Order: sequence, then C-alpha cells, then structure tokens
Amino acid sequence: MQTIHTVTGTCRPDELGRTLVHEHLLIGYPGWQMDALAPRFERGEALRRAVDALQQLRSHGVKTFLDPCPMDLGRDVEFMAEVAQASGMRIICTTGAYFEEQGLTYTFRNLPLDDIAAIYEKEITEGIGETGIKAGLIKIATGDHHVSDYERKLLVAAARAAKRCDVPLISHTQEGTCAMEQIEILAAEGVPAHRLLVGHTDGVDDPAYHRGIVDRGAYIGFDRLGITVIQPDEVRVKNIAALVQAGKGRHVCLSHDSNCGAWLGRPIFAPGQPLDPALIPQMMPHWTPSHLFERVIPMMREAGIPEDAIAAMTDENPARWFAGEPA
Ligand SMILES: [Zn+2]
Repeated sequence: MQTIHTVTGTCRPDELGRTLVHEHLLIGYPGWQMDALAPRFERGEALRRAVDALQQLRSHGVKTFLDPCPMDLGRDVEFMAEVAQASGMRIICTTGAYFEEQGLTYTFRNLPLDDIAAIYEKEITEGIGETGIKAGLIKIATGDHHVSDYERKLLVAAARAAKRCDVPLISHTQEGTCAMEQIEILAAEGVPAHRLLVGHTDGVDDPAYHRGIVDRGAYIGFDRLGITVIQPDEVRVKNIAALVQAGKGRHVCLSHDSNCGAWLGRPIFAPGQPLDPALIPQMMPHWTPSHLFERVIPMMREAGIPEDAIAAMTDENPARWFAGEPA
C-alpha cells in the first residue's frame, strides 16, 4: 500500500476518509507583495480563520483537506502545517506551478525540463525548501483553450516526476478547457488517465465534454461548488447527476476551490479588476468549504442521486485516485 505525504506526516489511501480535493488556505497571485493598496496580511487572523473553517469541516466528517496551491500562488506549507496541527485536519500539499498567464514563469521558462522534473521530485521525496514538509502530489495547469509551450514543458516534467515518485496529479483548467490535452500529454509520457484528477471542468455546462473526460479514465473534479459567478450550482448538480446516471459517479470528486485563510494581496479574477477581498462574501455568500455539506448534498438528493453515489464522491473516489486505481 502506497504512502501519502501530508504536511504533518504520512497516511495510506485507505485512511484518507471524507476528502475535499481542492481547497485553499492562502492564495496570492504572483507579485501580490507589490500591491501596497491591498489589506495587510494578518497571519494570526488568517490562521484563526482557517482553523475555524477546518474545525467546522471536521464536524461534517471531513478527514482530509487537499490544498493544491501551486508553488507560485503564495504556497506556504508551514502555514498549512500549523493549521493542520491546530485543527486536527489532515492537509496535503502539492508541488508544481500555475499556468503561464497567471503564474510566475521566468525561472521555469528558462530551466531545462529535466531540472523542473527533478525539482518536483525533490519536493516530493526530500521536502519543500528547508521545511522537511513533502508534497503529496503534483499540480499541473493549462491556459484558456490553449496549452502554451511553457505549460506543455511543465506537464511533461510533472508526468516524469509523477512516474518516478508514484504520485497522482491534480489539474487546473482555465475556463474548464483543455482537459483532453492534459490527458494526452500525460499519456504520451506513460501516465495513465486515472492518475489525473482534472479540475474545474464544472465551469463548462457540457455533459458530452464531462463524459469524454471520464471515458478516457480520468477522475473529474466538480470542485468549484459555490462559485456562482462562473456557474450556478444547479447546473453543476445536473451534470453530476448525468454522470451518475451514466454509471460514471466513481470518477467524480467534489470541492469548492475556496480560500479559507486569507488573500495575499488583492485577488484579481478578471484582467484589470483587483477586488477587495472583503466583498467576496457578498458576491458569493456560499463559497465556503462547508457549502457541500450544508446545501449541495441536499440538492444532489433532490436531483435523485443515490446516497451510495454521494458517499463514493466524498469518501471513496479520492482514495481510489490516490491509490492509483482506475475509477
Ligand atoms: Zn485552486
């Protein structure tokens, strides 16, 4: 049985339990330190907020919280470890970088592919920086309807490191696009689709697209629950129900892509539009990591999704993905 690195130790796939596969504790877009007009980052306050949110998740039975923050989006694994210790939540972090347009690309654009693979491998086997905290898996990311040369290089590096370290991969898709390209690039390096959890395609209301992803064998994240500015949750639930009806519920993993500690700098969700983080709860009142348990699961029941299919999505599918088993 394979060992998974968490920010505070190790566990086995069968110990993961109820898992949110894509949530965050801190996010800062590259260059956030330059935004002197942003609210000051209050670490203690962020820590308290994150611990509160994770304790609330524990009351919903959540045992594992995966924070796939890429290296260049304010990843702070010591903060994660503090939150894990204070909340009793198991937290898993990633190595890997964000997509070209929104990431911090200069260094990785100029490093050889083999060096990037070796860096990912080092963060998985030896640890991140001097912390000794090891990444449990690899984050990959691609752009809107287009995979750039930079992104392709990082995907190939990720595939090679994933094979050497026997870890899964989790992805960011911009606007939900390029899932098939991600699957193809990994497959060309000998990484089977079931090693990948494709993220954010719940932003696309296209059942045939979802079906294509799972028919290739990948796991699929309906992982932006509560982000109603992208997609109403009713549409997400309808598309989950369609996958369950097609016998593909074992591919589905659920999450919110929420940020429950703090924003570093001001979030920029759209070009030229820095956002006061204090306004986000008004924009999307249900964008919290407990939303699934408070509102979405009842919606899923109402849509006729059977109880065992819901339990598979929250409690079993993430474990199978981590264990390297096809859905
Ligand atoms: Zn995310």
